[in-house]
Amino acid sequence: MANAKPCKSKVQDKVAIVTGGASGIGEATVLAFVENGARGVVIADIQDENGQKLAESIGTHRSTYIHCDVTDENQVKSLVESTVQLYGQLDIVFCNAGIMSFGKQTVLDFDLDSYDKLFAINVRGVAACLKHAARAMVEGGVKGSIICTASVIASLARDMHTDYIMSKSGVLALMKCASYQLSEHGIRVNCVSPGPVATPLACKKMNMGVEEAEKAFEPHYCLKGVLKVEHVADAVLFLASEDSEFVTGHNLVVDGGYNFQGIVKY
Ligand code: NAD
Repeated sequence: MANAKPCKSKVQDKVAIVTGGASGIGEATVLAFVENGARGVVIADIQDENGQKLAESIGTHRSTYIHCDVTDENQVKSLVESTVQLYGQLDIVFCNAGIMSFGKQTVLDFDLDSYDKLFAINVRGVAACLKHAARAMVEGGVKGSIICTASVIASLARDMHTDYIMSKSGVLALMKCASYQLSEHGIRVNCVSPGPVATPLACKKMNMGVEEAEKAFEPHYCLKGVLKVEHVADAVLFLASEDSEFVTGHNLVVDGGYNFQGIVKY
């Protein structure tokens, strides 16, 4: 029998970047990394006030806010370079920044003008982060972990959100290619796919407050209770840590069984 590993904090002494780290799932993941021993966590976002406040609440030596619009490749490149300059290395990147568009976005009423912005953030932005993070890891000889946020609805048929579903399917495809191509460098790439969770993004889309949105989501999970950002952050922590050292190319769905609702019961 293999010897049990000594118990240590999951991301002890690691350096991480979290895009979209100033809010929702990203914010919860920043806190999870810090609580689990990370030496440095860079919060990358366009919400400067929120991001700066979060970094200050953690303490400047362990967390830094960097303004980074993921649609601008130069900003992403400079985010990665600044992280390595600040903390000396880069071990973990959570490519999480994302948006939803407004309107139903069914095939019959596509607002094609909103596509460019959505795809620039949700797909191109993830590709830019993956590219520059992976380059830094290869150059530094770091066997790092990259996690991208897709969505449980990336692989489901839905009566709306077609553009968003397409963008998140793109993230899954990107993760698959990247995990294969980077495996020779010992770099792991995985996705986390949350179910509906009452973050500012989801509440804005539904035009509801947090409690109202949680009540609306609750009947759709199979497990009793409500999906919280911390549940998603725990899954990201697993994929970031050595607990998943032989896991790559995987899409970890965290949805309380939301996706089972389509199963026909005999
Ligand atoms: P959120 O709005 O709370 O957080 C998203 C963050 O991304 C925000 O801080 C925002 O400022 C940032 N961001 C947006 N555009 C950016 C850009 N161009 N550059 C850098 N940062 C940018 O929402 P969330 O729900 O925590 O979303 C996080 C991820 O989870 C997204 O990719 C989203 O698609 C995905 N997701 C959310 C749900 C849900 O129900 N909330 C479900 C599945 C997947």
